[in-house]
Amino acid sequence: MNLIPFKHLNSIPLEFDVIVENVFFKGTLVHKKGKIAELNGTITGSISMPCDLCAENIERVLNEELFFYLSDGIISDNEDELDIVEITTPMIDMEELLASEIELIKSDYFCCSLCEGKTVEQEF
Ligand SMILES: [Zn+2]
Repeated sequence: MNLIPFKHLNSIPLEFDVIVENVFFKGTLVHKKGKIAELNGTITGSISMPCDLCAENIERVLNEELFFYLSDGIISDNEDELDIVEITTPMIDMEELLASEIELIKSDYFCCSLCEGKTVEQEF
């Protein structure tokens, strides 16, 4: 089930799981209040990404805990300054959510086991 209608969420946690290539995303979605829902999940599996130092493509093993809020549409008054992902479609596209999380992970600093511990020569 990769598309979840926002309106169907209620106080009973709804389990989801999504697989994109070698990445597994599972967890629960629960309605909190008003337009806000809460997501609790884990991302496991692996992705292939280049080492930041030697640019070699390395299989990176993932084990990420995720917790954030979703809003049904744009939230203009985010008073509590919550970490909110605004969903602007009637359906929550879990694959798209996972894809954006993977992009975040890919933008993180990452170096392979060979480069780990090597002193990085900084050029300015
Ligand atoms: Zn490397």
